[in-house]
Amino acid sequence: MLRFNDKGIYCEQADVYIDPWGQVDRAIITHAHSDHARWGSRHYLAHHYSVPVMRWRLGPDIKVQGIGYNEEVTINGVKISLHPAGHIIGSAQVRLEYQGEVWVVSGDYKLQNDHLATPFEPVRCQHFITESTFGLPVYRFPAVEVVQGEINDWCARNTAAGKTSVIIGYALGKAQHILYGLDKSIAPIYAHGAVVNMNRTLEQSGFDFSYAKPLDYSLSKKDLQGCIVIAPPSAVGTPWLRRFDPYSIGICSGWMQLRGARRRRGVDRGFVMSDHCDWQQLNTAVKLTGAENVYVTHGYKSIYAKWLRDEMHLNATEVDTLYEGESIEGDKEEAAAENTEAGIAPPDTSTAQSDISSPENGDA
Ligand SMILES: [Zn+2]
Ligand SMILES: [Zn+2]
Repeated sequence: MLRFNDKGIYCEQADVYIDPWGQVDRAIITHAHSDHARWGSRHYLAHHYSVPVMRWRLGPDIKVQGIGYNEEVTINGVKISLHPAGHIIGSAQVRLEYQGEVWVVSGDYKLQNDHLATPFEPVRCQHFITESTFGLPVYRFPAVEVVQGEINDWCARNTAAGKTSVIIGYALGKAQHILYGLDKSIAPIYAHGAVVNMNRTLEQSGFDFSYAKPLDYSLSKKDLQGCIVIAPPSAVGTPWLRRFDPYSIGICSGWMQLRGARRRRGVDRGFVMSDHCDWQQLNTAVKLTGAENVYVTHGYKSIYAKWLRDEMHLNATEVDTLYEGESIEGDKEEAAAENTEAGIAPPDTSTAQSDISSPENGDA
């Protein structure tokens, strides 16, 4: 029922695309990250929570219909519904059913509960399209609560030492994930403008991030001493950070599991926090769908598809798309090196990785 063409994932029977990278008539959007929700389509369908973010990013005039999870829309006999993907606020898997055939496009997803994104729900299907951003056995993410505890301990130590804690995460998704888990009693929390704008947009859907204040430029360095700052990757290495001197800088990413990733990012501390599945979550999710046919997109797609064929005896194929993983340049090469040491074949590097300095790109 679905096929991949030069504009995206296409359902001919309903004449709709899921997360198209080309400009199309009807687009169903899994979530509002910029590599999945692109400008230029005539009609969009997405979860209610994605709508304000899409208007903010793609323009106030886009035609977008919001629906809830498990709500069904029928187009030319194809039953279409959205189901929680657990990736970021509003993220959805798209289920399509036609004449007994069921496909699920999972977009980006994780099985960990971050208490903001509606938790992932497995959807039974015959055909499952999955990402593979962290589709190598080396990736085993710690529990969300453990990482939140590490971040709070680090912030408290910095504050006690008179240092500001600068925490780096993407403006949509990761920033809120970090904010939610922060102990608000440690120090005042400030957010970079890109994060503040995104928080305000999400607040239209009823979330509250008002405790993360925009930076008040009348505050002196002394006033800011020991505070906590949330900023996007684009802020690293810019003069904007100087006003927080002395500061310690930490980055939250699944890639931080790799030896050397923190050092090469030029930050003081790395926290293993991701909004994608690790290896075990991927395997669990695939099993729970019951799908016999799996299509593996962005990430370690050739390795993961081979694993699904050889070890799980599924019809698995890798598929080229223009989606991006959790991108921090170079880290894929590092993962390749580590896994070569561990006796695992090097990953397919054909998927372009965007630069960390591009705040609109990628999802963390
Ligand atoms: Zn993605
Ligand atoms: Zn994403």
